[in-house]
Amino acid sequence: MAQGMRMSQTKPGRCDYDVVIIGSGIGGLTAGAYLAKHGVRVLICEQNRKPGGCFASFKRKGYTFDAGIQGCEDMGLLLPILRELDLLDRIDLRRSKLAYAFPDCFCPLEQMGDLELIYDHLKKVFPRESNALDRIKKEAITLCRVMDAFAHAPNLMVEPLLGAVLKTPRWLIQHASGLRGLKHLTGLLNIPIDEYLSTFVRDQNLIRLLSAGYRGNPAAFSMSFLCTMMDYYYPARGGVQAIPNWLAKSILENGGEVRYGTLVEKILVEDGRATGVSVKGGERIRARFIINNGDIRRTFSEMVPSGAVPEEYARSLQQSNVSESVFSVYLGVDMPPEEIPTQGCGHVFLMPTYETLDLNEIDSNPDFYRRTLIMMMFPTLHDRALAPKGKSVVILQCAASIRSLNRWGTRKGKPTKKYGANKKEIATQLIANAEKLIPDLSKRIELQIESTPFTLQRYTLNSDGAAVGWTYHPRETFRQGFKGLFGSSNTPIRNLYQVGHWTMSPGGAPAGLMTGKIVSSIVRHRLRWGV
Ligand SMILES: Cc1cc2nc3c(=O)[nH]c(=O)nc-3n(C[C@H](O)[C@H](O)[C@H](O)COP(=O)(O)OP(=O)(O)OC[C@H]3O[C@@H](n4cnc5c(N)ncnc54)[C@H](O)[C@@H]3O)c2cc1C
Repeated sequence: MAQGMRMSQTKPGRCDYDVVIIGSGIGGLTAGAYLAKHGVRVLICEQNRKPGGCFASFKRKGYTFDAGIQGCEDMGLLLPILRELDLLDRIDLRRSKLAYAFPDCFCPLEQMGDLELIYDHLKKVFPRESNALDRIKKEAITLCRVMDAFAHAPNLMVEPLLGAVLKTPRWLIQHASGLRGLKHLTGLLNIPIDEYLSTFVRDQNLIRLLSAGYRGNPAAFSMSFLCTMMDYYYPARGGVQAIPNWLAKSILENGGEVRYGTLVEKILVEDGRATGVSVKGGERIRARFIINNGDIRRTFSEMVPSGAVPEEYARSLQQSNVSESVFSVYLGVDMPPEEIPTQGCGHVFLMPTYETLDLNEIDSNPDFYRRTLIMMMFPTLHDRALAPKGKSVVILQCAASIRSLNRWGTRKGKPTKKYGANKKEIATQLIANAEKLIPDLSKRIELQIESTPFTLQRYTLNSDGAAVGWTYHPRETFRQGFKGLFGSSNTPIRNLYQVGHWTMSPGGAPAGLMTGKIVSSIVRHRLRWGV
C-alpha cells in the first residue's frame, strides 16, 4: 500500500495526475516507484509495449535475451534502492562473476587483489613497460579501494539521518586506507585516460588496451571500471527484464499507472511552466509536474515549444557529444550451461588481440570490429530457464557507432539488403573471436539475432543509439562530473525535471537510479508544501 495520504487528496486541482513521467527506463521507473509508494498520483507513458528501455529483455524460440544492459552494478545504489522499495527479495539478485580473457590468459576476477593478475600478465606481454604497469597496478587498486569505500558509505539517499550518522565512524575506520586515495581519484576525474597514460606509457598498443578503446573516458573511471563490474548483479529469474517488471508492478500496486504503447509527442508549457503532455493520437494529459526520462536533446529540440529554453542551453545540447552505442549478437546455443568454459563467470571481457583499435577509429577503420574488446555474457549460468533444457544463451557485445560502415548500409534510416549483410559480417567476426574462448561456438548455434545502434535508437529513442547517454569524455560531455549532481535534474522549464542517463556524466544505470531517487524526493516535497 502507498505510504501516507494520497497527494490528490491533499491538493485537488484540474490536473489528471500529480506527475507524468515520460519513459520507463530505470530512471523513470525508480522515480515512479518512489512517488507511487508515497501516495503521489503518477502516470508513466512508455512508447514500447513493456518497461525497461536499456533494461529490456526479449524472447525468441524458447530463449530469453537481455537486449541492452546485462545485469547491474550495485555502486551502493541498486541494492539499497530495491530494498527500500521492498523489491530486493522479490527480484532475488545474484552476484555475477567476472573474468578478463586475453588471447593467452584467462583471469577470473572475484576480489580486488585479482586485478593484479591482469597487470602481471601484461608485464609479460609488454616487458618494456614493466615499471609503468607497476605504477598503473598500484593506482588502479588505490582507485578501486576508494570506489569500494563509496559504494559502502552511509547513504543519506536511502537511510535515515541518525542511522547514517551512527554508521559513519565504523565506515571511516573500515575504509580509512581506501579513503586515503580520494585525492588521487579526484585528480583523475577530468583527465582522459589516454592523455594520462601518455605521460608515462610509450607503447600505443598498451594505451589502447588499458583504455579498452575508450580513449576519452576519465582516467579515474577507466582505472576503476573493472572493480565496479566485480559488483555486478543478475536476477535469479526472468533475465534483466525482471528489474523493470518488478518496479512497474510496484507502481501499479501502489495505485500508480503505466501506459504502454504511448509515445509522448509534446510537453505542454504555459507561462514557462510544464503543465502536461500530449501523446500520439492527440490526447492531452495534465499534470503538476513532468519528469522526462527520454533523450534530453530530442526533448528540447522536438517536444517543447520553440523559444521555451534559452538559446545557449539548446546550443550546448546540440554541440555536446553522445556516448558510443553497442552492437550485439544474441545466440541460442546447443550447449548445456555447465559446458561453458568460463569457470562459472557469467561475464567475460575478451580482448581478442594485443593490437586493438580505438573507438575514435571506429568510423574509418573497417578492421575495428575484428580487433575490439568483446563483452561475453552467459545468463543461463544464473537462470537455466532462459533457454530450452540443456541449451544456453550466449550474448556478444562490442562498442559501436551509428556512423560505421556507411551507416550500416541503411538508406534514410531504413534497413536495406546491405544493412542485413553488414550485421551478419560483423557478427561473424565477433563469433570467430569468441571461439578463442568457446572453440565450437559457431557449430552449436541454433538461433542468431543481431542488433545495431539503429535497433537501440529505435527501441529507446536515444540519439544515435547512445548506450549511456552523454559521452564520458570530460571536455565533450554536456554536464561534467558529479559537481552538478543535485542541480543537474533541473531544466530551464519550471516543473519539468530530467532523470536517467542524460541527466549527468558519467551516465549509465547508477545515474538512472540516483536521479530517479533524487527527483522523486524533490517533487514529493514540492507537492507536499505546495511550492
Ligand atoms: C548494451 C548495453 C550495455 C550496458 N551496460 C551497462 C553496464 O554494464 N553498466 C551500466 O551502468 N550501464 C550500462 N548500460 C547503460 C544503461 O543501461 C543505461 O544508461 C540506463 O539503463 C539508461 O536508463 P534511463 O533511465 O536513462 O532510460 P533508458 O533506458 O534510455 O530508457 C528510456 C525509456 O524512455 C522511453 N521513451 C523515450 N522517449 C519517450 C517518449 N517521448 N514517449 C514515451 N516513451 C519514451 C523509451 O522507450 C525507453 O523505454 C548499458 C547499455 C546498453 C545499451
